[in-house]
Amino acid sequence: MLALGGFESPSPLPPEEAAFAAARARMVHEQLAARGVTDARVLGAMLRVPRHAFVPASQRRLAYEDGPLPIGHGQTISQPYIVAFMTAALDPKPSDRVLEIGTGSGYQAAVLSGLVAEVYSLEIVVPLAQRAAADLQRLGYGNVKVRAGDGYLGWPEAAPFDAIIVTCAPEQVPQALVDQLKVGGRMIIPVGSQWGAQELILLRKTPMGLEKKEVLPVRFVPMVR
Ligand code: SAH
Repeated sequence: MLALGGFESPSPLPPEEAAFAAARARMVHEQLAARGVTDARVLGAMLRVPRHAFVPASQRRLAYEDGPLPIGHGQTISQPYIVAFMTAALDPKPSDRVLEIGTGSGYQAAVLSGLVAEVYSLEIVVPLAQRAAADLQRLGYGNVKVRAGDGYLGWPEAAPFDAIIVTCAPEQVPQALVDQLKVGGRMIIPVGSQWGAQELILLRKTPMGLEKKEVLPVRFVPMVR
């Protein structure tokens, strides 16, 4: 019979989880901190959220590699660096209510979950919305609400938002999202054509209008109509 010794430290991680945690720590140092993500709260969130729990089983061993991964339905989970960069650009505050367009796997929503008060996330592909909602609930991200719906319309009942993050690329900034942003609020959004160049744009809504800054060339899946 196997003797369960009483001297080990309480509930050590199973070996597979310990290996994922080590890979995650390496990801944070080598892909994020080394490339200039300095926000300690964002790095902490990236260290905590198990990216491997948001990818299909076939992709799990690649979960902490430096790139996007397929999640089914022709969609992808973004590269860790892009998730960290966009999260930091939003300057998330503990009291913020944040809208995400493009739930995908639910990973970006999970990263935001620990940094803000509430996350509202919209996904147009119904089975993806259902799977992400179930995964987020199972993993304990209780302050994230997922809904299957069209991001071009936003989430008017929950507006206005302190911050909006868009993880698919429209050709122009959707007006409904600008309308649903608080004055003083921030939006990070990739804008451009499906085949040509896209730029990640950081918007700030001021009493005088929108301030706009191009921050990074990117390549996202299109925001579909
Ligand atoms: N944030 C995700 C990655 C999203 S990939 C993650 O962390 O995994 C972009 C997602 O945007 C896809 O799942 C796609 O189905 C969704 N999408 C595309 N057009 C949309 C629209 N009009 N409204 C809502 N979601 C949309």
